[in-house]
Parts: sequence; structure tokens; C-alpha cells
Amino acid sequence: MKPQVVIIGAGHGGVQVAASLREAGFDGTIVLLSDEQTLPYQKPPLSKGYLQGKQTDEAILFRSPAYYDANGISLRLGVQAARILPEEKQVITGTGERIPYTQLVLATGAANRLLRVPGADAADIGYLRNLTDARRIGERLAQAQRVAIIGGGFIGLELAALAVEKGKQVTVIEAQQRLMERVLPAMLSDVFQAVHERQGVSLFLKSGVEAIEAAETGGHLIQVSTGQTVAADCILAGIGVIPETTLAMNAGIACENGILVNEYQQTSAPDIYAIGDCANHHNPYAGCRLRLESVQNAVDQAKTAVAHMTGHPVAYQAVPWFWTNQYHLKLQMAGLSAGYDQAVVRGDTATEKFSVYYYKNGRLIGVDSLNRPADHLNARKLLSAGITPDPAQLADTAFNLNNLLA
Ligand code: NAP
Repeated sequence: MKPQVVIIGAGHGGVQVAASLREAGFDGTIVLLSDEQTLPYQKPPLSKGYLQGKQTDEAILFRSPAYYDANGISLRLGVQAARILPEEKQVITGTGERIPYTQLVLATGAANRLLRVPGADAADIGYLRNLTDARRIGERLAQAQRVAIIGGGFIGLELAALAVEKGKQVTVIEAQQRLMERVLPAMLSDVFQAVHERQGVSLFLKSGVEAIEAAETGGHLIQVSTGQTVAADCILAGIGVIPETTLAMNAGIACENGILVNEYQQTSAPDIYAIGDCANHHNPYAGCRLRLESVQNAVDQAKTAVAHMTGHPVAYQAVPWFWTNQYHLKLQMAGLSAGYDQAVVRGDTATEKFSVYYYKNGRLIGVDSLNRPADHLNARKLLSAGITPDPAQLADTAFNLNNLLA
């Protein structure tokens, strides 16, 4: 059989695999399966420019419709992969079609964690994962005045900022004691909290949802664990994700908080790779196994898988980075700061333009830059090169950090 790479999932990672294969000169067949009906699109704009009405459906497409044909990529929309048969090297679709592969890439991503409390189903909560979700959330926001958001992570807070900008009365209910606690230190959570509160957002921290009831006057009444009640016309939730591992597990592929992969994105099954949100890998920056839920990770792992498939293996070692935009706040995160034992600030915290450099055992492990994009770009280079600046140099904004890269 002529080589045939089948890719399950047409998000950032899946599309990158197809593009990188062609760029690497792969001349076999590429089959890209998407269970959505729309051409593959970028996800970050969904909670930002797309819902703000600044970006159209067309503007967020990865590639033009012509690109797939021109590059011999068989893009199959609305096709669900139902089973994988590793021994026969076939994928069976929801309609029973058998698609053979020489190599298979699982770019299945993650699914939203759903709120399981009494009344949650009837409340028709809006979760954001794909374009269909974004369209529905846009329609709901247009009709609502009081918006309650469950979860104060990236999704919840980007939606909160968006709803405020649309003139809504917004409440955020977050389980942890700080906003974005999973990824940010207190210093940065506090800045975001202050800005959201300044914008009129009511915050319930260290709070859960006990139940949701229909209000007699219309809308919903949310019973918060603090004993208070929040009235809302529209409820949205961003309470984390669960990796999509069902296909892999049913095929006997080793999984543990995601699909287990090695440094080349290979799973426990021959010729099957996994990339992106669903892939549990050993991360050299964290020094442990984890999953990274970011566009950059999906793209880098796609390139790692393709390099291996095409006979030029290079172990995955990209510096992780993430970003979030809320109001005028643009936060860019490089590296992984968990477990830091020293933090050094560069810039002015009062003007909301500063970076925090995290050290562990005397080594730079991560940098969060708020409204300082040049610091972020420099930080990625420092981390990639393994350079640890002297804290005194960092604290001195007159010192040009690019000198360290010379
Ligand atoms: P997230 O970042 O994990 O944040 C979810 C937050 O909701 C957590 O703090 C979580 O607390 C809290 N929570 C969980 N259950 C709750 C409940 N019942 N009531 C109140 N709070 C609850 O997840 P997300 O914001 O849903 O984002 C989903 C994914 O999209 C993530 O992978 C994220 O990285 C990605 N994303 C990224 C960006 C970006 O990079 N800018 C933007 C949007 C989305 P616990 O920790 O206690 O569960």
C-alpha cells in the first residue's frame, strides 16, 4: 500500500500534521478526519475576536478551501472515527467505512468538563469548545442582560471580559480562592481580580454551585455554596477539560490522564502517534509527565510527530507558552512556573505593565509578561537557550535583556 497517514481531529495539531507532512516532501496519501462540518479553523479567536464580532468565520480559517485540494489532503468533514483496529491498521468511521493507514495520528483534543449539579441540564449551560458553541454563546449573550459564568480560568474570564464589553451584568463563580489559580501566582491573579472588579464583575471565589433552579420571573437562580443566590438570564461555564481518550483506550493504547506518548509522540501502539491536548508526555521543562492544553503545544507536537514519521526524529523539547487577553490586559506566559522558589519583577506593577521571572533552585523556569510583549519573546529565547539572568539585571529595566542572547 502507498503510505497513507490518517489524522483524527482537524484542530491546530491535526491540520499542522497534514501541512508539515507536505512541507517535508511526504508524497503518500493524507486523510484528515473532522467530526465538524466546517472547514478547520483556529480556536483562540472563539473566546476573543470572533465573539467580539471583530473576526468573521472566514477570517479564522486555517487555510482556504483550495489549500486542501492543492496539497492533496483529503479533508473529510462530518466524519467521526468510531474505532481503531491497531492490528489491522484501520480506522472504522461512524458509518462503518474502513480507512486503512500506514501511520495514524490521534489529535482528538479534549472535551469540556460539564457541571453536574441538580438543575444544570435544564439550565442549558453554554460551554465553549468549538465554532458551533461560539455561535450559540453569541446568540445567548445578545439576548441576556445578567450573565453568570462558572469557572474563573482562561475561558470563564475571557468570556467575562467579552460580556462586560457588551454591556452585560456579569458574575463569575470560581472554585479556587484566586482567579486562574491553576496557572498563575497570586501577584498576577490579584491584578486580574482587581481589573474584573473595576469593570463591575461580581466575583465569588472559593465558591461552587450547589443547584440551579428556574426563576418564576424567567431566567435562572444559581444556588452558590456560600448560601447566596445569583440570578442570571444566561449561564456559561468554563470549568476545565477532559482529554479525549475513548478511541485510544478502546484500542488498547496506554492512557493515563491522556494518551501516553514518548518524546517522538509515539503511543504504545505501533505507528500510532498522539499530539496536543490529549497527549500525556514527559515535559523536559516541567521534569514530569503532563498534558499541555495550548495551541503552541499542539503545533509543536505535530511537527515532532511528522519529523519522526518522515525519518528525521527530533525529541520534543519546545518551550511551552500560552496567552490570554482580557480587556486591556495581555498576559503571555513562557515556560512552566509551577514549583518556583523565587520571583523577580521587571517593570511597573502599578501601570499593569510588568513581567515576573520565576526561578527554581537558581534556574529560570518561567516568565509571565503582562502587557510587555518584548519581554515574552525574549523569555522564550532565554528559556530555550537555558540562560538564567541575574535577578539584578532583570529588575533593572534599563538593562537590555537581549544582550544576554548575544
Ligand atoms: P481551566 O483553565 O482549568 O479553569 C477552570 C476553572 O474552573 C478552574 O479554576 C477550576 O477549579 C474551576 N472550576 C471547576 N469546577 C468548578 C465549579 N463546579 N464551580 C466553579 N469553578 C469550577 O479551564 P477553562 O477555563 O475551562 O479552559 C479550558 C481549556 O481551554 C483549558 O485547557 C485552557 O487552557 C484552554 N484555553 C486556553 C486559553 C488561552 O490560552 N488563552 C483560552 C481559553 C481556553 P479547579 O481547578 O478546582 O477544578
